[in-house]
Amino acid sequence: MKKWKCTVCGYIHEGEEPPEKCPVCGADKSLFEELVEEKTVEKPEPVAETTAPEPEVAAAAVTSKDSAPQARPAGKTDKLSEMIVKNHIHPITVHIPNGVLPITVLFTMIALIFGCEILETAAICNMTIIFLAMPAVLYTGYKNWQHKYKGARTDLFLTKLVCGVLVTLLAVFLLIWWIIDPNAATKGGGAGWIFLLLHFAMLLFAAIAGFMGGKLVFRD
Ligand code: FE
Repeated sequence: MKKWKCTVCGYIHEGEEPPEKCPVCGADKSLFEELVEEKTVEKPEPVAETTAPEPEVAAAAVTSKDSAPQARPAGKTDKLSEMIVKNHIHPITVHIPNGVLPITVLFTMIALIFGCEILETAAICNMTIIFLAMPAVLYTGYKNWQHKYKGARTDLFLTKLVCGVLVTLLAVFLLIWWIIDPNAATKGGGAGWIFLLLHFAMLLFAAIAGFMGGKLVFRD
């Protein structure tokens, strides 16, 4: 059975042909390369020599058929991108807003239902942290995409990008709303529920981006 490797995310497919699309990252069939197993090769003994030389054995390994010398150009690379990918800076930065956002939504909901001002203040502080973290999330995500995944324009990466931008825009919008009306949640009413609904939308977009990221990391 032949093996095919997705050159974008590293997913391995077994079959006579590569899949039409990578089930993990959505990369096109053309971005798969065949993996070939190198057989153990022994050099034939020279006839003229009386002492047979040690057979030279090539180590068995699985390599890309067209990877020598270089199958595809590497993604856009620079020292900073290498550092971001190597040290997993994107997942580290992502966990800041992802950790804070559910609490922000919960506090806003309690503030809206029970008119609890202290939780509304806490929610504003949390939203500020999200707002401050998002530029780093977007920047490191972009660098990861360009460097590690060769800037592949598949649905998965575009969805992650759109979700990240929407989370950022909603954070900005909700903070401005809060600056204009510091009691946006506690005063309730229809506007208060719309305010809360936008928080849930943020949570949904963050969850989608996180799900896509998990798919890439765990390749399932
Ligand atoms: Fe892939």
